[in-house]
Parts: sequence; C-alpha cells; structure tokens
Amino acid sequence: MGSNRSSEHSKPKDSQFVLPGERLGVIEEFTPNAGTYVKEGVIHSGVVGKVSFDRQNKRVSVYPLVHEALVPKVGTTVLGQVTGAQAENAAVRIFKIDDKPISGVFSGILHISDVQQSYVESMSDVCKPSDIIRARVISVKNQDYHLSTKDKDLGVVYAFCSHCGFTLESKRQGMYCPRCGKIERRKTALDYGKGIL
Ligand SMILES: [Zn+2]
Repeated sequence: MGSNRSSEHSKPKDSQFVLPGERLGVIEEFTPNAGTYVKEGVIHSGVVGKVSFDRQNKRVSVYPLVHEALVPKVGTTVLGQVTGAQAENAAVRIFKIDDKPISGVFSGILHISDVQQSYVESMSDVCKPSDIIRARVISVKNQDYHLSTKDKDLGVVYAFCSHCGFTLESKRQGMYCPRCGKIERRKTALDYGKGIL
C-alpha cells in the first residue's frame, strides 16, 4: 500500500503532457501548486496540461492546455436566441455550434434575404425576440456571423407568444398560443417544438 506513494517510476517528466488524476508526486517532495490537487498525500493533476516540476522551490504545477476555442465557422449550424428583430434584420445570440454548447459570446445576424427562397415581407413574420432559432453560418465579417435559414431543417425551433410569452404551437393556420389564443407567423424549422435544446 504505502510503497505506491514513493514510486518514482510512474511520475511524469518535466513538461510532459498529463491528464486529470495523473500522479505527479507526493507532498513530502513537492508543494502542490496551480492545476494540482492532493489526495491522501499524493499530488495529482487537476487539469489536462503540461506539468512543471520546479525542483529549486520544490513545487509542482500543471499549466492547462489551451484548446482551440469553439467558434462559429462558415457552414456550421448554430442554435441561438433572437435578441432583437427589426424590419430587415434579426440579431441572434449563438449558444450552440454543431450541437455543442459554447462558452464564448457570439452574435449572429439574419438578414431578411437569407430567411427562405421565397419573398418575405417583414422579419416579424420570421422570428421575434426570445425565439430559439437554428441557422447556418454563411459568412463572417468583423466578428458578425451572418446566418441563413434557407433550408427545411432551419428556422425557429421554439417560439414564444409576443403577447403572453407562452410557447407557441405550430398549427395549420399559423403559430397558435394555447394560453391567449393569439396567432402569429414564424419561419419554422421542420422539427419545430420537437427538438431538445
Ligand atoms: Zn399568448
């Protein structure tokens, strides 16, 4: 049991890539520093990264590996919430890229000409603030992600009544609010109301 604690063989070398939980040493030889944790006297890596043994100061740290951040790219499908809608444009706060939740803040713009193949008169027939929309990134300019919903699987996936905020149901006559009876219009995706966010 106790012999494991002083095993030198399993210890990674300086600058080596380590995984969370990997043994880095024991508290008798090192002071645990950033990116590490101690369990029963053994220092482990707490993150994915590069280990650094500071022999002079007897410290061990792990510097997290910086992953390429998930950013929307042309061609990716994003999920976002409509934050504002004017006559010709809607602003979308993107929260998922290709079904993966993201930590960064990205804003998308949907122009009325990119909504569908046929003519749309006003953005108010497409989406409204707080709706959840699925779109494809068609271009990126100055950190603005231009979106398109020109596809059957793209468009609003959840819409909320502009009068009472209730989730709208997709009916033949339009988007229907079961709470207040209001009927609205949206450009919906084929799986409207069925998807898991
Ligand atoms: Zn309503």
